[in-house]
Amino acid sequence: MEERRNKSSGANFDFPPSILDEIQKNIEDIILNFDIPEANKMDVINKINFVYTQSRQISATDPLTGLYNRRHFEDNLEREFLRAKRYGNNLSFAIIDVDYFKKINDTYGHSCGDYVLKEIASIIAATFRKTDLIFRYGGEEFTVIITETAVQNALIPLERLRQSIEKHNFIYDGKTLGQITVSIGLTEITKECSTVHKLFDNADKALYKAKENGRNQIMI
Ligand code: GH3
Ligand code: MG
Ligand code: MG
Repeated sequence: MEERRNKSSGANFDFPPSILDEIQKNIEDIILNFDIPEANKMDVINKINFVYTQSRQISATDPLTGLYNRRHFEDNLEREFLRAKRYGNNLSFAIIDVDYFKKINDTYGHSCGDYVLKEIASIIAATFRKTDLIFRYGGEEFTVIITETAVQNALIPLERLRQSIEKHNFIYDGKTLGQITVSIGLTEITKECSTVHKLFDNADKALYKAKENGRNQIMI
């Protein structure tokens, strides 16, 4: 889906963000050297900065849910992982996967599936602190980077989230949908967890266990 979006927009945002920022800064410098009135220069720079910020925002966002997308996730997980390692801070990481989502699409249609994803995204967004980072990782999978929090404390909002979704009344096109639940794989940085890939794998394995164990639950 991501691939398709890139192609249709014709945009290529595969440069690392730091390089894009540098290019943007160079453009500013070039404009500042033009032989035109200062006020005009600032006007042009402000306009370019606005468009630049806007496109950076769009490239980091999932259009369906408004959450950060997978591209933005990869940059952030790596950065937060390195930061937590360097300063010895706690860091918890969770993958949230909607249970039997395919059945929702098959029973009520794809638009209803989209509605459910939007609804779940806003419940997730309402559950966590501003300092926590929430992403739509893929189809019906969301990830949360819970900064400066050990796994036992991360369990508190995640359990609240699990219950909110389980209790939520999903109404689409006037019809009340059956109960919808999520499974969650949770992990944290430990001394043994040496790479960001291991951190991700640990959460993924925990998610797999939660599914195997009957779904609608959190596994560490
Ligand atoms: P499990 O409980 O094991 O997670 O089962 P599941 O059905 O949720 O898992 P599966 O991975 O088989 O199905 C995920 C489905 O999500 C399949 C795909 O059609 C659907 N999907 C992916 N992206 C979107 C989307 O953007 N909108 C909608 N409506 N459906 C999507
Ligand atoms: Mg899935
Ligand atoms: Mg699923």
